[in-house]
Amino acid sequence: MSSRSLDRPRTGSAWLLILGVVLLAALATGSARAETWLCPICQVERIEVPEGETSFTCPSCEISLTSEDLQIPVAYLSIRTRPTQVVWDLTPECGLFTDEGLMATPAEGNLWIPWSAVEYYIPRMRILRLTSGEEIAVPYARGPTCEDDDQPLILATVADSLGDWTREGRIETHPVEEYMKTIFIVARSPAALNEARDRFIEEVETGKHPRLPRTQPRTHRLAEPTPPAEVTGEPIEVVLQVRSSERGRILKVNRLKGSGRPEFDNAALMAAYRSAIYSGGEMGAGVPGSMIFRYTFGDTVGVEAEPADPPMWNEWIMPPLE
Ligand SMILES: [Zn+2]
Repeated sequence: MSSRSLDRPRTGSAWLLILGVVLLAALATGSARAETWLCPICQVERIEVPEGETSFTCPSCEISLTSEDLQIPVAYLSIRTRPTQVVWDLTPECGLFTDEGLMATPAEGNLWIPWSAVEYYIPRMRILRLTSGEEIAVPYARGPTCEDDDQPLILATVADSLGDWTREGRIETHPVEEYMKTIFIVARSPAALNEARDRFIEEVETGKHPRLPRTQPRTHRLAEPTPPAEVTGEPIEVVLQVRSSERGRILKVNRLKGSGRPEFDNAALMAAYRSAIYSGGEMGAGVPGSMIFRYTFGDTVGVEAEPADPPMWNEWIMPPLE
């Protein structure tokens, strides 16, 4: 303490003034650091919590909730139309996402929603559905406090079905790393994931997100088959469905219409594998897609391609649990 402060006259009004300033400062700091959380039980009560605190008591439910009550142990995801499940552990947390919840932006101001209250969340469509059935406005999954480099990075395993009718099919799993903003769906259960998938498809098909529409898969090389024998009489037709990854790799070929002559079906199959596909897109993200290849063997040999119906979301394989 300095000698000058000792010399200062200590009148009652001066002390009151200091007290007032301190109180005002405390109030200002307090309000800047408070967060509002939705009670995950009643999903009505909004509780003021000091920033960084992850436990609170709901006055209506009269239940004290801890960090664990706000989290979900496992999240069911769709990553580029592929389903998967992960232990829900967000690293790093950022201004929009923590292990306990995510920020919503209703008209009344920012509101933290515990993950345990979320039925499903579709970041790219700004859709958040609570287990009460209510939906609440959310920002796009990025912002000034959630830039690319410090968004949660989700590590997951996805699966594809590989093969064709000439060989036994197999499931290939591969690890993926995706930022939260590119995840298609976060859901609390497999049933909620299925419901959210239908919702995602419906939203795209009704054109509610015109800035990032669906783009169809297309070929950039459509290989012609080599006829295995001369064809006399009626032309021979083979129709195949070809599924490719979001990078254009051919994953699976199904025979929709065989010719009854295996050598012609095989010639079509070899041509399909030699073709190259540009993947389709859902809301600006590359996704696996399917196309129909129609081969004809006659006086001339020909092949035509068109997107399958549906072009996307037509394989839904959960990776096997390790
Ligand atoms: Zn409550």
